[in-house]
Amino acid sequence: MELYGKKHALSLLNGFRSSGRIPHALLFFGAKGIGKHTLADHTAMMYLCENRDAAPCMRCSQCRRIEQHIHPDVVYPLSFMENRAYHVGELRDFITSCYIKPNDGDIRVCIFEELDEMSVTCQNSLLKFIEEPLDFNRYIFIADKKSPILQTVLSRVVAVEVDGADEDEFSRALTDNCIERSHIPELYERFGGNIGAALGFEQCGEEIPYLTAAIKAADALSSKKELDCLNAFLALKTRGEIFEALGILSDIFAQTSAVKAGRSTCGAYRKQTERLAAAYSLKTMTRLYGEAARLYGMSFTNPNVKLFAAECSSSLFSTAEKA
Ligand SMILES: [Zn+2]
Repeated sequence: MELYGKKHALSLLNGFRSSGRIPHALLFFGAKGIGKHTLADHTAMMYLCENRDAAPCMRCSQCRRIEQHIHPDVVYPLSFMENRAYHVGELRDFITSCYIKPNDGDIRVCIFEELDEMSVTCQNSLLKFIEEPLDFNRYIFIADKKSPILQTVLSRVVAVEVDGADEDEFSRALTDNCIERSHIPELYERFGGNIGAALGFEQCGEEIPYLTAAIKAADALSSKKELDCLNAFLALKTRGEIFEALGILSDIFAQTSAVKAGRSTCGAYRKQTERLAAAYSLKTMTRLYGEAARLYGMSFTNPNVKLFAAECSSSLFSTAEKA
């Protein structure tokens, strides 16, 4: 198993390991395709690897079984749930089963995928479980976004943002996955450091419409082409897609503001960030962030998808021009 990019997340995890204290509950969050599941497996190896000094060694029987997803003590509760959706009854049964000691070793790692899709009732049913962990249980939560997660859950986990790859790592990852070299610059342009999204597109023709729209809209703003921005939004078919695109745009604007303020960022959309940073002042970027966040909050109140798409484009452009 090879880990590409994720330098920020890995340096945090390695810091925990060297201090001898990996938190018992972690949340990995970041865009779809960014590598949260791979990082969760890597962390499970850190907890269970037989070679404590070099964990994860990737060679011992613990590491190898985790990589193959056949380790009896690394469990993915979502995979036990009917229709792969969390139901409170099934979740409670799962929690009860975790009061029994692990099968194989000293530690059980529960990897909860799609925490941001979990209902409030389900999230509430986890609180006591997370807060009063048994010695042998560790929890890793995975979510695309932090916003749907209850504050009471967030306060009980250590949240780690999973960052994208830089251009070199991106290129290495795609080459290792047999993607033709000549395609790589265009893929980086399109998907930033999101290796999973680029592979999905290149290998399966899968496109994530809201990701494409967000990237096109960001580029349209930096090149000041309003029609391109409008077309990017109009390509989206549901309010859910517009909501996702606005979420990504908010991230890109926040990253750009951070760059303008002289801070380094760990985001996946470096090209878009660089271009926006060259085109606008910090004040404008802060305003754009505020505007994207406002529209994000309105995503489900506006009944007409096309009208809302057009409003997103025109509001962002008029905010950018206000300078
Ligand atoms: Zn190992």
